[in-house]
Amino acid sequence: MKNPVSDTIVALSTAPGVGAIAVIRLSGDDAINLVNSVFHGKNLLSQQSHTAHFGTIRDGSKILDEVLATVFIAPHSFTKENVVEVSCHGSPFIVQQLIKLFLRRGARLAKAGEFTQRAFLNGKFDLAQAEAVADLINADTEAAHKAAMNQMRGGFSEQIKQLRQELIHFASMIELELDFGEEDVEFADRSDLKNLVDKLLSVIKILANSFDLGNVIKNGVPTVIAGKPNAGKSTLLNALLNEEKAIVSDVAGTTRDFIEDEINLEGVVFRFIDTAGLRDTEDKVEAIGVERTREKMKQASLIIYMFDLKNDNIVEVNREINMLENLGIPFIKVGNKVDEVQAELYEAMKKDDTTLFISAVNKENLELLKEKLVETVNLDNFKTGDTVVTNIRHYDNLIQTQNALQAVMEGLNSDVTGDFLAMDIRQALHYLGEITGEITTDDLLANIFSKFCIGK
Ligand code: GDP
Repeated sequence: MKNPVSDTIVALSTAPGVGAIAVIRLSGDDAINLVNSVFHGKNLLSQQSHTAHFGTIRDGSKILDEVLATVFIAPHSFTKENVVEVSCHGSPFIVQQLIKLFLRRGARLAKAGEFTQRAFLNGKFDLAQAEAVADLINADTEAAHKAAMNQMRGGFSEQIKQLRQELIHFASMIELELDFGEEDVEFADRSDLKNLVDKLLSVIKILANSFDLGNVIKNGVPTVIAGKPNAGKSTLLNALLNEEKAIVSDVAGTTRDFIEDEINLEGVVFRFIDTAGLRDTEDKVEAIGVERTREKMKQASLIIYMFDLKNDNIVEVNREINMLENLGIPFIKVGNKVDEVQAELYEAMKKDDTTLFISAVNKENLELLKEKLVETVNLDNFKTGDTVVTNIRHYDNLIQTQNALQAVMEGLNSDVTGDFLAMDIRQALHYLGEITGEITTDDLLANIFSKFCIGK
C-alpha cells in the first residue's frame, strides 16, 4: 500500500522553543529537490543517502542560516520517502523563516502524526508499531519505555499476526464447506476446530489480562489517600511529593479540593489524589468533598487508608476498614502520628501486622510505605519479557475478538451451520486486523494520528 499523495510535508521535529539546534524535517518525492533549491553548498541531489552536508539556506541573496542538511533517499528513510532533515540554529525566528521559505517553495505544513502515518501507509511498520512511536516519545519511566520499545519492535504485532493466520486457516476450511453447502460435507473436523478456538481464546485472554499491568505501566496507578479530616493526608502527600502542594492546616477539613500529583517508584508512577476525608459531615462544602471522595475512590486502583493514632477511636477505624473491604479496591492501612500515639488504638492496631505506622510530619517509615506501594503492583510478568498490552484500543479489540470467538465456540457446541460460524470468524478477524492495521478506515487512522504531535 503506497501512499498515493507524496506531496512534500514540512514541520519542526524538535521541541518548540529556544535550543542549541532545531531540526526541520521534510518528506515527500520532491523533498531533496526542494531543499536543494535554497541550499548553498554541495548539490544535495547527487549525494548518497544518510549523509550530512554543511551549507547555507538562502532566500534570494539573503542568508537565513547556516545549516546541516541530512539526506535520506527513498525508501531508506523513516517515511520510506525522500527525506531531508535540516538542522539549523535553535531560534524560533530562524525556524519560522526557514519553514516559511520551504512553504513558498511548494511544501505544505505536516499534520499531527503525518510523518508516522506516511511511514505506516508506506509499509514501514504496522499500526500497533506506529502507535508505539507515540508511546515511546511519551514514556517517562523505564517500564513504559520498555513496553513501548517492545511494541515498536514488533513483538506484540507478531503475536497478533500469528493468531490471525490461524484464524484465516480456520475460516478457509469453513468457507470451503460453504462452497459445498448442498452436499452437507464437513471438511473441518469439529473437535479440531474447538481445540483451535480454545487455544486462541487462551492466548487472547492472556494478552487482554496483561492490560491491567500495561495500563499501570503507561498511565500510572491512580491512588487515593483516604481518611478523616486531620488524619494527616496532606502532610503525607507533601512528604511524598517533597513539595508544598497540598494545603496543610490545623483546621479540620481544609483540604477541600483534589490535588493530583505523582511519584515514580521503581519505574511505576503513582498518581495521588488527595481527598477531603471519609467522614460524613454537616459542612456543605466539605460534604461535596466527601461525595467526590467516594466517587474518586471508585476510580482509584489503590487506596492508602490513613487513620490518626492520636485522635481516632478503634470502633470507627474498624468501621472504616470494613467499608473499604466492601469496596473491593486494594488498600494499605496506615496509622499516622506514631510520634504521638494514644495507647489503646495503637496497641489494638499493632496486632494486625498488615498495618503500617508512620509519622508524616517526621517522615518516619515513609520508606516502608513506598515499598508497600511498589509491592501492590506486580511487575514480575513484565520482567519475564512477556508481551504487555498498554493501548486501550488494542485492549478493546482483543475483548471484541474474544466475544466473537466465544460465539464461534458456542456455535460449535450447538452444531450451528458453517455460515453462522463463518460470520463470527470474520468478526474476530476484523477486530484482530484492526490492531495491526491490516484492516483500517480513514476515521480510525485520523483518530490515531491526530493524537500525535506535529513533526512526528
Ligand atoms: P488532612 O486533613 O488529613 O489532610 O490532615 P493534615 O495533613 O492537614 O494534617 C492535620 C494536622 O495533623 C496538622 O496539624 C499536621 O501538622 C498534623 N500531623 C500530620 N501528620 C502528623 C504526624 O505524623 N504527627 C503529628 N503529631 N501530627 C501530624
